[in-house]
Amino acid sequence: MFTALTDFFDIHDSIFVLTGAGVSTASGIPDYRDEKGDWKHSRPMDYRDFVAAHEARQRYWARSFIGWPRFQQARPNPAHVALARLEQLGRLAHTVTQNVDGLHQRAGSQRLTELHGSLASVECLACGAIIPRATMQHRLLASNPVLNHLSARVAPDGDADLSGYDETDVRIPDCRRCGGTLKPRVVFFGENVPRERVEECYAALRRADAMLVLGSSLMVYSGFRFVREALRLGMPVAAVNRGITRADDSLALKLESDCASALNAVLTAFDNGAADSAQREL
Ligand SMILES: [Zn+2]
Repeated sequence: MFTALTDFFDIHDSIFVLTGAGVSTASGIPDYRDEKGDWKHSRPMDYRDFVAAHEARQRYWARSFIGWPRFQQARPNPAHVALARLEQLGRLAHTVTQNVDGLHQRAGSQRLTELHGSLASVECLACGAIIPRATMQHRLLASNPVLNHLSARVAPDGDADLSGYDETDVRIPDCRRCGGTLKPRVVFFGENVPRERVEECYAALRRADAMLVLGSSLMVYSGFRFVREALRLGMPVAAVNRGITRADDSLALKLESDCASALNAVLTAFDNGAADSAQREL
């Protein structure tokens, strides 16, 4: 089943990888979308709502407080590990992830751009001060002891579904330095990825000779733009994703599979190839 992907790696030396939520589902972080590309949960937090409305921030931080422990406890799964190994073998030009869970880094990926930032830190929108997310968690709990008693389902951005709790009671900690509004250092829906981060990814893409999409439906433009650019450059694009992607019509190869099985099949083929050539040298 994975021969075509193994061939794709045989033909191309330097692959630009884009990963999405499907890579982290096996780590217990749920996917945003179903196999038809529709939202599974309520729509994620919108940037304009977060900045403009105190109630939106109350809703976000209440749900985020509940979702954080599970997010923090998530561990890299075999897909993250296999991808880090492919990087060590020199087969990847760069990895760009749409995920904000930090799991690629923890698995050992180094040439990595976290396109949408990371939930591990929080910044002040007024003065730019940065604090660890864990500190925010302590401050939220100190101001809202009741949050500790709630449990809820967790969504991919660390958000959670808090049915029946009145979030307008939540007291949100402000920046200790200037009193400004604190925001997780992630790109919300409706917010632009910083320009220099996008340019860094385009530069990496131009150094590659093919692109591989893992576990993303490409419904969000911030990731889809790299597929468009790869196609514009005449670069073949492969995808491993359960369900449709926005680029299905343009893909050189599409596998409906879980990412770990696909990547491990590629690694096994490399190992066997290495064993074969060692045999020939003897
Ligand atoms: Zn501040």
